[in-house]
Amino acid sequence: MGSSQELSFSPKRLEGKVAIITGGASGIGERAVRLFWSHGAKVIIADIQDAQGRAICDQLGDPHNVTYVRCDVSDEDDVRNVVDLAVDRFGGLDIMYNNAGVMDLAGTTSILTLEKEVLERTLRVNLVGAFLGTKHAARVMVPRRKGCILFTGSATASIACMTEHAYVASKRGILGLAQNVAAELGTHGIRVNCVSPYAVATNITKGVVVAGVAGDDEAAAMESFMSDAGNLKGVVLKADDVARAALFLASDEANYVSGLNLVVDGGFSISNPSVT
Ligand code: NAD
Repeated sequence: MGSSQELSFSPKRLEGKVAIITGGASGIGERAVRLFWSHGAKVIIADIQDAQGRAICDQLGDPHNVTYVRCDVSDEDDVRNVVDLAVDRFGGLDIMYNNAGVMDLAGTTSILTLEKEVLERTLRVNLVGAFLGTKHAARVMVPRRKGCILFTGSATASIACMTEHAYVASKRGILGLAQNVAAELGTHGIRVNCVSPYAVATNITKGVVVAGVAGDDEAAAMESFMSDAGNLKGVVLKADDVARAALFLASDEANYVSGLNLVVDGGFSISNPSVT
């Protein structure tokens, strides 16, 4: 029988690991950058918001262990470059967190009026971007027979969400991709999982909630939306809660967890009509 010491959590749960976090310049990704770094990971922020990405690096003040790289996840050359940089600069890649995402307001409409270009734009970032991150991460992980790939899905991918067809299609696609890739890459010793949050107050949610609301009312609209959102009354989902779920999946504590969709929604999707 093992000792209790063998079961204890390491204070630095990602010590020595190298992580790329796409969409790491804001919202959930930013919190994951800070959390992974605080747990000993070397982190590459891959995003298109240069000023914000660099500001996080400056704040952390640790140029040996955190860096920003401009990377449009829908551009294969950018994604190839950021993965190569992880190998060249940090010696490898242990964690690929495909987190970058968009929700185009123009996509929040009836299927009768949804423009094909809006759907394509959403899929290009959310789904093609996650595919490219996975493909290039696998390129360097497979020969080493280890690694961990994370996706950001959405709780809205498993409920019928009246007017978010483009976003839901992309997120359901991500779940399918994540679970299919988990089956293939598991044979190479690589774990693949998905974290699916419900509503968190970030730029994405703000864009939808405060559309058409002006000035001071924006903050009130956001506060009211967040306190009503979800199922766990009195508890508001924070980006940190999602980052902590990702930390668990990225760490060796989840050593035998693969193919999982870890839904961080306080029970919202099981309490609402499901399309699964
Ligand atoms: P956010 O807007 O704060 O963060 C998204 C990040 O992705 C930004 O930093 C943005 O610059 C980056 N990004 C966008 N397009 C990119 C591209 N082409 N290449 C590289 N980076 C790009 O919003 P967030 O809520 O933190 O979103 C993070 C992820 O969480 C997204 O995949 C989103 O769909 C998902 N999500 C969010 C919620 C929520 O309620 N906020 C719920 C479920 C899922």
